[in-house]
Amino acid sequence: MPKYYIWTIGCQMNKAESQRVADYLELLGYQATLALQKADLVLLNTCVVRQSAEAKVIGTLGYLKGIKNSKPDLSILVTGCFVDSDVKQLQKSFPHVNLFFKPSDYVGLLNWAEKQGISVPGYKMSLPLTKRVTVSAFVPIIQGCNNFCSYCIVPYRRGREKSRPVDEIVCEVGELLRYGAREATLLGQNVNSYGHDLPTQPDLSDLLTELNNINGLARIRFLTNHPKDMSQQLIQAVASLDKVCKHISLPLQSGDNHVLKAMRRGYTVEQYRRLVGSIRNCIPEVALSTDVIAGFPGESEEQFVRTLAVLEEGRFDTVHVAAYSPRLGTIASREYEDTVPPELKKERLNRVEALQANIADEINSRLIGKEVEVLIEGKKGGKWYGRTRSNKLVFFESGSNCLGQLIDVTITKASPWALQGEIPIDDNRLEESKR
Ligand code: SF4
Repeated sequence: MPKYYIWTIGCQMNKAESQRVADYLELLGYQATLALQKADLVLLNTCVVRQSAEAKVIGTLGYLKGIKNSKPDLSILVTGCFVDSDVKQLQKSFPHVNLFFKPSDYVGLLNWAEKQGISVPGYKMSLPLTKRVTVSAFVPIIQGCNNFCSYCIVPYRRGREKSRPVDEIVCEVGELLRYGAREATLLGQNVNSYGHDLPTQPDLSDLLTELNNINGLARIRFLTNHPKDMSQQLIQAVASLDKVCKHISLPLQSGDNHVLKAMRRGYTVEQYRRLVGSIRNCIPEVALSTDVIAGFPGESEEQFVRTLAVLEEGRFDTVHVAAYSPRLGTIASREYEDTVPPELKKERLNRVEALQANIADEINSRLIGKEVEVLIEGKKGGKWYGRTRSNKLVFFESGSNCLGQLIDVTITKASPWALQGEIPIDDNRLEESKR
């Protein structure tokens, strides 16, 4: 049986995508291998959000060229954000690659396979069942982005927004449940735009309502949101639908209006604050996470301090912070000089992390002694782990097989990044409760 090896970098969309491509490759008769040297087919699922990620992809392609020289039958396939609209140019630059195909272009993949003489099952347009289902499964619902934030390459590489029909997503979630999933995380670069390009124009709240009716599905999550596109209707849906986790990611990026404008984010700090207020008002128990870029071109100390002030006031459960790095091909790299020195970016990044560690520690410490519902995703270092509805990572010990179960865990210890707990019933009783 021929073997395939998949190399994936980048976001959760890419991880979900790789899982799907693996399913197609197995339908085509390939078998997974963890050893690159043993592979007959190598798939690179690429990310180019950062210049360094693109350099890594190019480096890996160079490495594979060496392998292909000694193993000419090796098939090299490339997908992900590295594949832009000029595929001809890519083929010219990397002639050792057999196929460049855009994310989700499974038909392109199957057509290529057919040309290689590989027999292709007759249902080219339908999704195969995935066999690598995890308790918490990723489900892409919309590809691409129409926003063109000045620092971001995604719209150029992933193209314009393209939503998957509601029926197709509902059907896929049903199948994932059959294979053991209990939670679905809906993915998109901007999930708030979901559905506007479909004939009946459903929105994300309509999709959540449909999914909430699926028997056996325990939890639903979604990311990433765009503050300018998040509707009141969606907030209401999160508040009222029992399976939708009260956890919302809401990227801030900067707490200064001039910087936000240069980033082309399409909202002001005041609008962002109002949105956070409205979410907290409607969903008092909500957990919020956000993203921040430190050291955007021209960002002064005063402007950076405004970002810290929004974080201090917002009391987010999680903050993801990245130091700005110019990305060739974006508006920011063309129009703005990268004025903030690397050491200052790092210093600002550290200040965000230090502030957030204190806030998260305070929020998480409040959970000590409380019982939280945890969906168990796996075992690490001898302990079971899973997430609360508010997306907090919890570890605890048990001799029973807890995988895929919803278990009430009493929190005994907290840190900014994770919680430790214990289950209030002994292992035997847990076994009984499972029966
Ligand atoms: S919303 Fe902005 S940052 Fe997010 S993918 Fe679209 S362009 Fe990039």
